[in-house]
Amino acid sequence: MSRDPDHDILFEPLRIGPVTTKNRFYQVPHCTGMGYALPRTVAAMREVKAQGGWGVVNTEYCSIHPSADDGPYAFCTLWDRDDITNMRLMTDAVHRHGALAGVELWHGGMHSPNRFSRMAPLSVSGEPLNLAAPVQARAMDLSDIANLRRWQVDAARRARDAGFDLVYVYAGHAYLPFQFLSHRHNRRTDAYGGSLENRVRLLREMIEETKEAVGDTMAVAVRFAVDELMGAAGITAQGEGRAVIEMLAELPDLWDVNVSDVDNDSRSARFSEEGFQEDHIGFVKSLTSKPVVGVGRYTSPDRMAGLIRRGTLDLIGAARPSIADPFLPRKIEEGRPEEIRECIGCNICRSGNNEGAPIRCTQNPTMGEEWRRGWHPETIAGKASEAHVLVIGGGPAGLEAARAAGQRGYRVTLAEAEGELGGRINHDSRLPGLATWARVRDWRLGRLHSLPNVELYPGSRLAPEDVAEFGADHVVCATGATWRRDGVGAATPFGVAGLEDALTPDDILKGGVEPRGAVLIYDDDHYYMGSALAELLVGRGHAVTYVTPAPVVSSWTAMTNEQFFIQARLVSLGVTIITGRSLAGTRAGGARLEGIYGEDEIEAACDSLLLVTARTSQDRLYRELEERGTANLHRIGDCEVPGAIAHAIHAGHRFARELDATVDPDMPFRRERVVG
Ligand code: ADP
Ligand code: SF4
Repeated sequence: MSRDPDHDILFEPLRIGPVTTKNRFYQVPHCTGMGYALPRTVAAMREVKAQGGWGVVNTEYCSIHPSADDGPYAFCTLWDRDDITNMRLMTDAVHRHGALAGVELWHGGMHSPNRFSRMAPLSVSGEPLNLAAPVQARAMDLSDIANLRRWQVDAARRARDAGFDLVYVYAGHAYLPFQFLSHRHNRRTDAYGGSLENRVRLLREMIEETKEAVGDTMAVAVRFAVDELMGAAGITAQGEGRAVIEMLAELPDLWDVNVSDVDNDSRSARFSEEGFQEDHIGFVKSLTSKPVVGVGRYTSPDRMAGLIRRGTLDLIGAARPSIADPFLPRKIEEGRPEEIRECIGCNICRSGNNEGAPIRCTQNPTMGEEWRRGWHPETIAGKASEAHVLVIGGGPAGLEAARAAGQRGYRVTLAEAEGELGGRINHDSRLPGLATWARVRDWRLGRLHSLPNVELYPGSRLAPEDVAEFGADHVVCATGATWRRDGVGAATPFGVAGLEDALTPDDILKGGVEPRGAVLIYDDDHYYMGSALAELLVGRGHAVTYVTPAPVVSSWTAMTNEQFFIQARLVSLGVTIITGRSLAGTRAGGARLEGIYGEDEIEAACDSLLLVTARTSQDRLYRELEERGTANLHRIGDCEVPGAIAHAIHAGHRFARELDATVDPDMPFRRERVVG
């Protein structure tokens, strides 16, 4: 297939200082949860991006000195010569596919608690860290500033020796050079504080000195947040954000512009649309002749081409779209954009780093598995037998198992009880802000329809006797899970008596039940469901009280960088929020709530009680088939253990990969570690 000529502009090369990128696809730096401890794992992941056509592939944040230590979170380092050996794994891998390799040199300042290095945290004016820790940051004196400039230059030289083509001066996301720029943080009275000219001084020096050190061979990029989205309290695109670009316009070889802080920059789809940063960064190109890159969760090639044609951006920056589909550029180039596995904006990728684990992705189950399991997002081994696979259940797990086994060439039959394939996606994607989650279903259905060896049977609820009739060689139960009505949750592991009349999310979303009057949502699940239902029900005119044993609303969503936005939204909707209380029982017209620190019980009035606590695997069919001695019986996804959609997709994919393969069940992946 030939590519749409409208998209040709995305494949025009572009000069960035002394180097040239082959196209306009620019993988901006993004966290991986791998960092310096797992260099092979990182390199294999970045290589797949380069292979998938990204013209520039960057690292995650790469510390320039042990005083910029974010442990236990994973980050790269260029602290010494040994780091060069590690980082070269990535540059070699990226270069194998004709892409440029970039490195985001980083000093976090008051964002670096230095738990690992135990050095004194540094900051522009001396203040508490931006996280709760019993240590503060020391104000940098002039010798610290001189050291910082030296660390940047030394790290840039090491980056050059490691083979990088592009090196960052990083003044985004409220990190150290940005702290100098910020009138909120910078209270210095010397040449680095006061006027904007003075506050910009450090950034200017770092750019100039990095260019002087390596600028003849490497492009020097600046990442700068033009707006903190906090009005006059912060830097704004109309005010100092614009002024900084004006002052330094031609100094770097490339401007990578965004909004700050990290939560704002990578807002989930629940809180932002594709292209949500355009209004903030759109002015930058009018002030500089240097290439400008920006992000906005772009997955539409028409929109990307339009951005370049209109002169908004020169390069399409992407973190999440490149995670969900490392082959996005190649698919556009080869005229098959309908095959793009579009990011759904769920931010599960962020949760990897935030939880201290290698990156994972809801849409792309191979993300983070490139080295340790040898998985590739596009290719998969052909079938190893003529086996016929019966998949029961067409939710994320079943769809992915059928798709990937079908891609391998197996004969696959997928039976789904409901009239529409999609499982929980069909319901969850109707919750406020979650429409993009339907892409999990739609991409898989698109692929499944292109596979002649896969038969789909929606509207087919299978009983054990039906299963036997298929005569399949492998039977895979992907029958999902249901929400509990007995109050069992993390805070009440033995349940709560007397909840027979309570509702569950299944009643509302699958059963179409409309709760009566004022609703009390009891959330001991802590992910999206409780708060999304609160939003849904307020929208339908209910007064809503949200109760959780956790200290905040949807507490786990701190891992997806959504927690603040979720709680703020519930506050703005007038939801009554009660935290730190667990459900003790019901009483006519209300619920009894116990304080988790021993506070007296209180009663909260409501007409309906909606329980969002935990789920039970729907594994009856699996058990019955097991009892009948069904050979090659498998269970995957929520049927095995309830989890997030990302877990179900991964389980479905893993089943297909491991079909007829020799995998040690006790040690199913390679480990990257120092062996003494
Ligand atoms: P997962 O997230 O693990 O994929 P879901 O709950 O999204 O789980 O999907 C499970 C799907 O399995 C649902 O669409 C459900 O209708 C279907 N299902 C459950 N039991 C049967 C059955 N006996 N026969 C066919 N489909 C079933
Ligand atoms: Fe997009 Fe979600 Fe994948 Fe992140 S985890 S890249 S947000 S689909």
